[in-house]
Amino acid sequence: MPRTSHKPRKRFGQNFLKNQIIIDDIIRVIAPRADDLMVEIGPGLGALTTPLARLLTTLHVIELDRDIVAQLREQHAGGRLVIHEGDALKFDFASLGNNLRVVGNLPYNISTPLLFHLTAHIGSLRDIHAMLQKEVVERMVAAPDTPAYGRLSVALQYRFDMEKVLDVGPEAFYPQPKVDSAVIRMTPRLSIEPRAHDEAVFARVVTAAFSQRRKTLRNTLRNMLEREDFEALNINPAARAETLSVSDFVRITNRLHERPPAA
Ligand code: SAM
Repeated sequence: MPRTSHKPRKRFGQNFLKNQIIIDDIIRVIAPRADDLMVEIGPGLGALTTPLARLLTTLHVIELDRDIVAQLREQHAGGRLVIHEGDALKFDFASLGNNLRVVGNLPYNISTPLLFHLTAHIGSLRDIHAMLQKEVVERMVAAPDTPAYGRLSVALQYRFDMEKVLDVGPEAFYPQPKVDSAVIRMTPRLSIEPRAHDEAVFARVVTAAFSQRRKTLRNTLRNMLEREDFEALNINPAARAETLSVSDFVRITNRLHERPPAA
């Protein structure tokens, strides 16, 4: 358990890692090298921060909780830590430079918007190692035709190669969360093929298709695709979104790009 009087705050998603074996495992899968450009989201009481800072020349951290920031400033005064006080959801990750490695035991209440925020900075990223709810990790890596496959899977698999690298039980944390956790590694895909001509349209197609999981594509995409579009794409209008691959969604997007949307 961390040696501090800090009382964990639920509103900041504070579940601190306390199991040294798990902490060592996480550092091992991250495999930091001294000159890596790395930023940790939510250092908290330093479970990952301290071992990472020992291995790196510089470590950036972003923390929202002012009390924790004050503690970090005291404990790491004059050290290798660059502390950014504020909200990771608003942080300009590109401002730190290129080839950035992002790590964090993320506050679970904001993990999905945070992943989308990071996606917006993908051009500056080398990789992400994130502790998330296991159920979210399973949705991220899910294959088509499985119950976990959905908007999150398609949106992130389009841009990242992803693998689950560790399973972590609730007992590794203080206080214990009610759910299982897992660490995911996300690496921006070097070549995206096929590529969506318009990413905003891609996002709209994926959101619409999964808006009502049990409905057919004819229904969910009725404002976008005509019968002849389904034919040209060789996609069954009576199928559901969960049967489509990531490249099917890209093909739909690019079909829309080629001609004005139906009235
Ligand atoms: N890294 C520590 C660990 O593993 O023990 C703490 C992890 S705890 C799950 C999440 C941390 O993120 C907390 O320190 C919390 O204060 C911080 N946090 C919560 N919301 C945040 C936000 N929007 N931006 C930056 N940090 C945030």
